[in-house]
Amino acid sequence: VSALSAPTAQAERCDILVIGGGPAGSTAAALLAERGRSVVLLEKSAHPRFHIGESLLPLNMPLFDRLGVRQEIEAIGMRKYGVEFNSPAHEAPVTLDFADAWDKDYPYAFQVRRSEFDQVLFRNAARKGALACENTRVTAVQFDADSPGALVTAKGPDGELRAWQTRFVLDASGRDTFLANQLKLKVRNRRHNSAALFGHFTGAQRLPGAAEGNISIFWFDHGWFWFIPLSDGTTSVGAVCWPYYLNSRKTDVTRFFLDTIALCPMLARRLEGAQLTGPATATGNYSYSAQRSAGHNYLMLGDAFAFIDPVFSSGVFLAMNSAFVAADTVETCLDQPAEAAQALRRFDRVMRKGPAVFSWFIYRVTTPAMRELFMQPRNVLRIKEALLAVLAGDIFRGTPIGARIAAFKAVYYLGCLLDWRRTWRAWLRRRRIVRDVYLERSAAP
Ligand SMILES: Cc1cc2nc3c(=O)[nH]c(=O)nc-3n(C[C@H](O)[C@H](O)[C@H](O)COP(=O)(O)OP(=O)(O)OC[C@H]3O[C@@H](n4cnc5c(N)ncnc54)[C@H](O)[C@@H]3O)c2cc1C
Repeated sequence: VSALSAPTAQAERCDILVIGGGPAGSTAAALLAERGRSVVLLEKSAHPRFHIGESLLPLNMPLFDRLGVRQEIEAIGMRKYGVEFNSPAHEAPVTLDFADAWDKDYPYAFQVRRSEFDQVLFRNAARKGALACENTRVTAVQFDADSPGALVTAKGPDGELRAWQTRFVLDASGRDTFLANQLKLKVRNRRHNSAALFGHFTGAQRLPGAAEGNISIFWFDHGWFWFIPLSDGTTSVGAVCWPYYLNSRKTDVTRFFLDTIALCPMLARRLEGAQLTGPATATGNYSYSAQRSAGHNYLMLGDAFAFIDPVFSSGVFLAMNSAFVAADTVETCLDQPAEAAQALRRFDRVMRKGPAVFSWFIYRVTTPAMRELFMQPRNVLRIKEALLAVLAGDIFRGTPIGARIAAFKAVYYLGCLLDWRRTWRAWLRRRRIVRDVYLERSAAP
């Protein structure tokens, strides 16, 4: 707030100001501009810019249709028909195809280069009438308890300050979590404390035929890997690891990344002869959530509200879905103030639901019992179709999968109980691995 230097009198006016032009911000801006609202969309960088998070879900497709961008995404995307799981405890990989999900209407999703994808969505917002500014970083948001809306200050491309008096703020600033930081609402997830290393390869060995675009997941001792084929022949590879492992790094990030790949022979084989196209990147501890997603004249969308482990590729879908719900919520708040409190509560429920649904699986995905269920999926009582519905992102439309997912969870808990020896051994093994990594680190010169 101290950075606020533009006087209110000079501030331009708008209905909605959106912080951040990623999938959440650009989607919300497009929807609200299309409905005739005056929308300002501020993005601190310039598109196209690199972003991680390249694998989308089938339930992104109806959102693309509603935004009118499906063809543009199709042109840059690689079709992803399913997910291949590779476990060191099982001889052969298993593929789950989205065509087998509860609703057969969404048999595929896309893998995308986020620089291109985010640019399509950002341009769409501008086309729909939003004032979309790049190289413009929001530096302060000042809420005034006595007057509606907020005063937002931003630094433009030449360093000049601009201010907007807006009726509503949508924070879509991603992992920068602008408002959650300012309002001190951010809480780190202590239950799931992993971090990632990633890079792009050329010459990686893809799956044959229609499965070429499938995402592959590889479990290994210190976490899991993704293998995401992109349409230009590049393959995105990343490792999501426990912090103790990343803290053991003694070499540069790229060397460490390549050494980590070598710890997973199934993946290493797919990368034989492949070339890393640039240095690898590391991100820090990252799962978090804000204590609330909505308040007086503001909402937090996508990663600006919460971030969960990307093992099920849910981030972009949850971000875009939150933007659709946000657009309706803002309209209610602006046009029917008497309904605002209820609309904000509904928005908060939706924001919590997505991370909660996926987190149950995320917290358990490295346990032997869960791996067993993924590696030997059975469609008894349509449980596999229900599981695939979750993996496709079909969690907000009232698709009747609740009882089957409850049955899946019961089977999981039963598996842990019946096979308690293996669960116990896995726990001991993990403890030993952690200890060995620590010992190795402390023995280092
Ligand atoms: C290692 C890793 C792997 C992932 N893999 C996947 C995956 O395979 N599939 C998937 O769906 N998701 C994945 N994700 C998650 C995905 O990246 C995010 O969930 C998604 O990008 C969220 O979209 P968003 O619009 O909320 O935020 P972002 O895409 O981060 O967009 C936020 C935008 O706000 C801008 N911004 C920030 N602060 C300001 C400011 N002060 N002023 C102006 N602009 C600002 C940023 O520049 C950015 O463009 C992954 C994430 C990580 C870390």
